[in-house]
Amino acid sequence: MSLSDIAHIGRKAASSTASSTVNAADAANAPGPWNTDGVERLFELPFPELLYRAQTVHRAHHAPDEVQLSSLLSIKTGGCPEDCGYCSQSSRHREAGVPAGKLMQAQDVIEAARAAKAQGATRFCMGAAWRNPKDRDMDGLTTMVREVRALGMETCMTLGMLEDHQAQALKEAGLDFYNHNLDTAPDFYGQVITTRTYQDRLDTIRKVQDAGLNVCCGGIIGMGESRRQRAGLIARLANLAPQPESVPINHLVPIKGTPLEDAPALDEFEFVRTVAAARIALPRSVIRLSAGRESMGDATQALCFAAGANSIFLGSKLLTTPNAPVSSDLDLLARLGMRAAAASREA
Ligand code: SF4
Repeated sequence: MSLSDIAHIGRKAASSTASSTVNAADAANAPGPWNTDGVERLFELPFPELLYRAQTVHRAHHAPDEVQLSSLLSIKTGGCPEDCGYCSQSSRHREAGVPAGKLMQAQDVIEAARAAKAQGATRFCMGAAWRNPKDRDMDGLTTMVREVRALGMETCMTLGMLEDHQAQALKEAGLDFYNHNLDTAPDFYGQVITTRTYQDRLDTIRKVQDAGLNVCCGGIIGMGESRRQRAGLIARLANLAPQPESVPINHLVPIKGTPLEDAPALDEFEFVRTVAAARIALPRSVIRLSAGRESMGDATQALCFAAGANSIFLGSKLLTTPNAPVSSDLDLLARLGMRAAAASREA
């Protein structure tokens, strides 16, 4: 066999490997409906191929250098009757040490929104540790929405399960987004939460969509779920109809005193793969890097942006867990040549 034969065989082998990779990627990259198998095939692509595919999808639908900046405030902390295994605010996880508080006064919430806007946030997310809001709370909540909106910010709330009339009242007050996460895949869900079902969550999301609100819906990675279960979560999110406008991808922050305090650490590349799979399966959604960013290195965050993440929470605290300082976030965006997305609304 001559050297040119060997080179020819080498070229053929390389081209067949490249083409089978591309074919696998094309198959995996086909538009939905997505199933767990299809999303799992994305996870199994070589890392550079997955990132390339995700970035290609990202550029088709989003400005590649833009990051949307949100801010999150806990408007009612602790004492929640639900038993979400990751959460320090559950009344069942008393050793986590988060005391139950009352719903904040609207004026204090508005002041916090004003401060968040001054730091550069364009969306203000308000979270309450409830199973569901009571009707008696709705006046205060709708006042918060109207007043924060009047500042020229987008508004988002996460209050637990909703009734139709509550979703309608929030919509009429001007709420832009309602956050209600699926958290994880259906077949892992029961190991994390027992006090409300997966179907309860889907029902609330349906009510929110029926009221005409944008949906913010994502999950938490690193709770001990398998790769297939991560794929299962992405497939469920991708099959919501319509797909959620906003998709927070959280990295578990293990909190002492919660059932998941000793969850096994997750390989950072696996987290990036999850972001990339979400980007491909949810091409138009804004993918938000949410909890867990504080302990991520700058390089991992940069990989997440390359994989299609295009939103972050700005501010030193997320509900009850720490978040990256604002100055380091703005510095990181500047170092990466990225910029904050413009506000969609002005006061
Ligand atoms: S995640 Fe929300 S619903 Fe679950 S325990 Fe915490 S505050 Fe309650």
